[in-house]
Amino acid sequence: MKKIIVIGGGIAGLAAAYRIQNEISAGAPLECSLLEGGERFGGKIATEKSEGFVIERGPDSFISQKPAAIRLCQQLGIGDHLVGTNPGAPSTYVYTGGKLVTMPDGLSLMIPTKFLPFAFTPLFSLAGKIRMAFDLLIPKKVGEGDESLASFVRRRMGEEALRKMAEPMLAGIYASDPETMSIGSTFPMFVETERKYRSLILGMLARKKTMLLNANKRPASNHTLFMTLKEGLGEMVEAVIKKSPDIQFKSEARVESISGNEGDWLVNLEGGGEYKAQALILATPGSITAQLLQPVAPDSAEILKQIKYVSTATVTLAYKKEGFSHALDGFGFVVPKCEGRSILACTWTSSKFPHRAPEGYVMLRCYLGGALQEDIAEKDESTLISLVRQDLKEIMGVHEEPVFSKAFHNRKSNVQYHVNHSQRIDAVMQGLKSGLFLAGSAYRGIGIPDCIQNGTQSAESAIQLLMGKSNAEI
Ligand SMILES: Cc1cc2nc3c(=O)[nH]c(=O)nc-3n(C[C@H](O)[C@H](O)[C@H](O)COP(=O)(O)OP(=O)(O)OC[C@H]3O[C@@H](n4cnc5c(N)ncnc54)[C@H](O)[C@@H]3O)c2cc1C
Repeated sequence: MKKIIVIGGGIAGLAAAYRIQNEISAGAPLECSLLEGGERFGGKIATEKSEGFVIERGPDSFISQKPAAIRLCQQLGIGDHLVGTNPGAPSTYVYTGGKLVTMPDGLSLMIPTKFLPFAFTPLFSLAGKIRMAFDLLIPKKVGEGDESLASFVRRRMGEEALRKMAEPMLAGIYASDPETMSIGSTFPMFVETERKYRSLILGMLARKKTMLLNANKRPASNHTLFMTLKEGLGEMVEAVIKKSPDIQFKSEARVESISGNEGDWLVNLEGGGEYKAQALILATPGSITAQLLQPVAPDSAEILKQIKYVSTATVTLAYKKEGFSHALDGFGFVVPKCEGRSILACTWTSSKFPHRAPEGYVMLRCYLGGALQEDIAEKDESTLISLVRQDLKEIMGVHEEPVFSKAFHNRKSNVQYHVNHSQRIDAVMQGLKSGLFLAGSAYRGIGIPDCIQNGTQSAESAIQLLMGKSNAEI
């Protein structure tokens, strides 16, 4: 019997464990334990349920264009619990100049692909629109080097597109500062589009055309861009544990240190206890992984220490639907930093995912903090709730008392992919010894599908090493 230990029970570690379970089910002579430092599994994924409300402390959905999360749900037998966004409410708003302005139709991420809605939108000034249209003429960047999101957008589409769109929409997803975040590691499709088509607008139009032409050839998909699970993302966590009977899942098993050498590893738990294994999958946040790697892969540990995490917070509020002062006719809104608000974004959860609130109620979820306003995320719960209520009053005209309001801190939870992130990760991987594998959001994608993909791949690499299998057999 060969043994693999997975350290960290977030979605990356769980996906790794589930992949190993499948190999054991197929007869492989493998043992596996997953050691989780906290009381519960799921890491950033944390669903709370109360009186018909489904409340997500951290992530609330995932993108369907990257198939790993949908595939995992299907393998786990919960594919029929997947739900998409409400087709009746697809608008997203930007809070600008004291008003909520609809994002113009045809805007693909931040690139206009329809002329009329773009020409008439009050979101951008005339000068801003003309500058964005310059993208059609500007030559492509010379050289292969990475750059920041801000430098990329400023170069191609101008300052207004950066402030009103790229910063709240794109950097907002990463809770990052657009001046420092890597375009290559966060939105590689923009870099590829520029390389291939020179202009982002021309590139997006060409892609749209190809997608339309191919639409008839592909089986129809009922997946919307964002998908979630009926009873919350916690369903995925529970299902992995339930469907992995041969994996030893241990909570409150915080790993203090690892030692040993190629193929012969020793894992020590805080408070005593040790495990031996031939392969280790470290699926802990990058900062913890750096500490664990220090004695066994010091070069990788030093680079990993440079990867920063920032704090965010979420505030969820529920109200009686009857008489609620806003129509909630969309998915919610984002707020550019220059507007000087506490909220970064607000999801109208009960409009986006109607099953998340019981009949007769509406639910909103606000996102605060991140690299540009981290101090706000550190405030206590009651201050967070008052800041949010003040903003909702002034932005949406919500004066009502919520039936409940809950604030959650995500301290140093959001990993930051700074310029040249992918080169740093290449160097981290090169410094590892045989039998050590890394998984999770710190490396090659922060989204849930990325973490699942990455966890699954690290399990496959560990299986390959221990079972002497070739790539084709895995
Ligand atoms: C507020 C917020 C909102 C987000 N929203 C979305 C979203 O809507 N959609 C999306 O796709 N992504 C979203 N993300 C990103 C995504 O949720 C995360 O990138 C992903 O869940 C990280 O998974 P992970 O397994 O890499 O790490 P984690 O979930 O951080 O898991 C790591 C685990 O390791 C454990 N651990 C730590 N130290 C030790 C130790 N010494 N020994 C043992 N165990 C240890 C931790 O307790 C934890 O359980 C969001 C993230 C945050 C913070």
